[in-house]
Amino acid sequence: MRLVFGSERNKKVNGGQSTVHGITIFCGLWTVDKNFNKRSKLKIKNTCISILILFSQCISPNSNITDRPDMNNISLAIHGGAGNYTLSDLSLEEQKEYQQKLQEALDRGYDILEKGGSSIDAVEAVIRILEDSPLFNAGKGAVLTSNEKIELDASIMRGSDLAAGAVGGVTIVKNPISAARKVMENSPHVLLMGRGAEAFAKEQHLEIVDPSYFFTEKSRMQLQKIKEEEKLKLKNSEKKDKKFGTVGCVALDKNGNLAAGTSTGGMVNKKFGRVGDSPIIGAGTYADNRTCAVSCTGHGEHFIRNTIAFSVAALMEYKGLSLEQAVDYVVEEKLKRTSGTGGLIAIDKEGNIAMKMNTPSMFRAYRNTKESKVFIF
Ligand code: ASP
Repeated sequence: MRLVFGSERNKKVNGGQSTVHGITIFCGLWTVDKNFNKRSKLKIKNTCISILILFSQCISPNSNITDRPDMNNISLAIHGGAGNYTLSDLSLEEQKEYQQKLQEALDRGYDILEKGGSSIDAVEAVIRILEDSPLFNAGKGAVLTSNEKIELDASIMRGSDLAAGAVGGVTIVKNPISAARKVMENSPHVLLMGRGAEAFAKEQHLEIVDPSYFFTEKSRMQLQKIKEEEKLKLKNSEKKDKKFGTVGCVALDKNGNLAAGTSTGGMVNKKFGRVGDSPIIGAGTYADNRTCAVSCTGHGEHFIRNTIAFSVAALMEYKGLSLEQAVDYVVEEKLKRTSGTGGLIAIDKEGNIAMKMNTPSMFRAYRNTKESKVFIF
């Protein structure tokens, strides 16, 4: 039997001891009571009964909180894509815009956690903000396929029961992350594709938009530039890679539940029908309460081939590595083995955060009980 109350909810407290404390308080008050009149006696009696009721409510025979991390360790990390951009690629105004949007999303997610909301709610809310912004390669600002279409991928995963949902190649769903969540919660499946995913999103009353909603001047120019570069057959090292902007979020809530989500338009000039790592559970997204939550960004084919997101969790579970060690190994060794480029964000069950990339830059931010930081390089 364990006591769970207030800020002390993590401490293992013996129920018998608490009862003893209750009696002590009762007896103490009774001694003082001897010198009081009848009305005061009644008042004190009522107070004592209230205290005893309070104590009895705190003792729950079903509480089983041994070995759970400190529940005040809520934390949240987000990314806005890994890439090759440098300071000179973004004007001061653009840097400010990215910084502000990341901060807004971070604070929204943290606010949910702080108020006792679930990590899955925080992840969805954060990603919706980034999907609605034209700054990122997800939702509104998604990049174009080689035939100038938009095809969006997203996934979400809950660490408490390994439930997961994903959509691939959707063209009319305003917030693919919400469609992924509906697949997880309201269907027997994990991944729905294209027209089937869109029909399901309509059934679930999600917001549907005309494909033109997603097109931006920036995405048109990106496609044109990449096509020109490919015509000139520039070697990889000479290309200025502009394929960044995928978004992701990982969170740990007050109940010790982890969650992860990722949303993207994929890679500029991808073949239509191509699906990357972002909607693939274990590649672009993974969450397991026993280890960690992970969201990836980068050259998706390599994240699929190396099962990057799951690898972080597996190294922790099977080899006992810390989050930091697992992330270092996966990004520095495993991903590089196939010359994969990109990065990831991860949170473990204690609320530790890791954010790592092997590209020159990755938009990223985190907030926990101690600090809040946004990085654009
Ligand atoms: N991983 C995404 C994909 O390959 C792209 C990215 O993260 O930039 O679809």
